[in-house]
Formats: sequence, C-alpha cells, structure tokens
Amino acid sequence: MNDCLFCKIINREIPADIVYEDDLVLAFSDINPQAPNHTLIIPKKHIARVSDLKEEEAHLMGRMIMAANKIVQEKGLANKGYRIVLNCGKDAGQEVFHIHLHLLSGRKFTWPPG
Ligand code: 5GP
Ligand code: ZN
Repeated sequence: MNDCLFCKIINREIPADIVYEDDLVLAFSDINPQAPNHTLIIPKKHIARVSDLKEEEAHLMGRMIMAANKIVQEKGLANKGYRIVLNCGKDAGQEVFHIHLHLLSGRKFTWPPG
C-alpha cells in the first residue's frame, strides 16, 4: 500500500520512534500520546481493519499481543496495569486504516471509555 502512513513507517519513508521490531510486527511511539506511554503496535503486513483479517492472518494478532507483553515487561508495567485499545472503523474513531493496537500506560484509565 503506497499511500498508507503506517506502511511508510515500516519502510522507513517516514521517521518514527521505534520501540520494538521483529519479523512480523513493528511498534513505535504515538505522535499524539494520550497517556505518558502511548505505543502503537502494527503488523508489517498491510491490513486495513481488524474486520478484514483473514483466518490465515489470525496469528498476527497474537504476535501483536506478544509484542505488547514484551514492551510492558521492559518498562516494568506488568503489575501496574495498562490498556490495549483496537479501534475498528468510523464509529470507533479509526483514523489510520492499517491495523494497530494502542498500548497505553502511565496513568489511571476510566471505564467505560469515551
Ligand atoms: P486510530 O484513531 O486510527 O485508532 O489511531 C491512529 C493513531 O495514529 C493516533 O493515535 C495518531 O496520533 C497516530 N498517528 C497519526 N499519524 C501519525 C504519525 O505520522 N506518526 C505516529 N507515530 N503516529 C501517528
Ligand atoms: Zn499499511
């Protein structure tokens, strides 16, 4: 996908503060953080929405969660708590159409979310 912002970050065409990378997943700091720590975790494969995920791509979601676990362990946040958010589509406020987990930590969160 040539015009996808997150694909451009994967291809190093746009700079980002990369905090984790493996063969399938990339994680980088959100440019407009909503918590003291706000990391975006994306698959390297372009998939627009979680609702577009195919059966054979399901393992990518597991790998994204495992990346979140590694980042959380590294930052020592496992016991403090954190939030993982996945927005899908317009009503959820998805703005970038390349699947991403928001990993938010460093403050207390409320429920229900806004
Ligand atoms: P969404 O609303 O689609 O769930 O989240 C998109 C996220 O991408 C937002 O939190 C937004 O701040 C972040 N974002 C948008 N453009 C950029 C960018 O160029 N670089 C980085 N690092 N994050 C971005
Ligand atoms: Zn993309």
